[in-house]
Amino acid sequence: MIQIKTDDEIVLMRAAGLVVGRTLEALAAAVAPGVTTGELDALAESTIRSAGAVPSFLGYRPHPSIPPFPGSICASVNDEIVHGIPGQRVLRDGDIVSIDCGAILAGWHGDAAVTVGVGTVSEMARELMRVTETSMWHGLAAARLGGRLTDISHAVESYARSQGDYGVVEEYGGHGIGTEMHQEPHLLNYGRPGRGPTLRKGLALAVEPMLTTGSRHTQELDDGWTVSTVDGGLSAHFEHTVAVTERGPWVLTALDGGAQRLAALGVTAAT
Ligand code: MG
Ligand code: MG
Repeated sequence: MIQIKTDDEIVLMRAAGLVVGRTLEALAAAVAPGVTTGELDALAESTIRSAGAVPSFLGYRPHPSIPPFPGSICASVNDEIVHGIPGQRVLRDGDIVSIDCGAILAGWHGDAAVTVGVGTVSEMARELMRVTETSMWHGLAAARLGGRLTDISHAVESYARSQGDYGVVEEYGGHGIGTEMHQEPHLLNYGRPGRGPTLRKGLALAVEPMLTTGSRHTQELDDGWTVSTVDGGLSAHFEHTVAVTERGPWVLTALDGGAQRLAALGVTAAT
């Protein structure tokens, strides 16, 4: 079932989204050679809790067969795509780290992710990050009233394919979000436009492409969580939570509501 939010509920989701956006801003600034992913996790938890919110990833367990997630962020390094467990791993110059973060405030969820270069990264890694982030913004720009869900999927994939021979991960994708982190509908990062549910006012979605420099295929590691590329290729992951409004997409986890990046694509963001 798709949860449609009232205007007041979207405002509550914006507050949760800002907690996530500000936390990711702090985390991105803290990324440096020598920092561990566990230190980033501790910073995330303290930042989220000091805003009066709760880290939604901590203890998250989608199924009883899976161990509860032990961190407040997912930290996925280099060939790791998503769901990396933060811990003792030391970030090194030239690494890229994808940080995924979620928070609950007053019962409403925000969910966003960034990939950050550690020190000086290769041209290939920088391009991967740029293309992945921009593909996300193309998807967000397609979150317009009266459109269809797969307009977003198509926008993400089309941009990614236009930029080079990137792998577009298919096993994981975006999702509805509201009083739960993961809600219907599932949002693919590829496919034909004009299909799926109509984009209605009050729908909120997490748009989150994952691209790779090699094969799009994924494998799950023995820790029960971490997902990596099968061929050792690099992966980047960007995510924002967006609400469909009468005034345009409102990017709830972006500090400016998405105004600047959407304007660059010719779309006016709601704020
Ligand atoms: Mg996320
Ligand atoms: Mg998500």
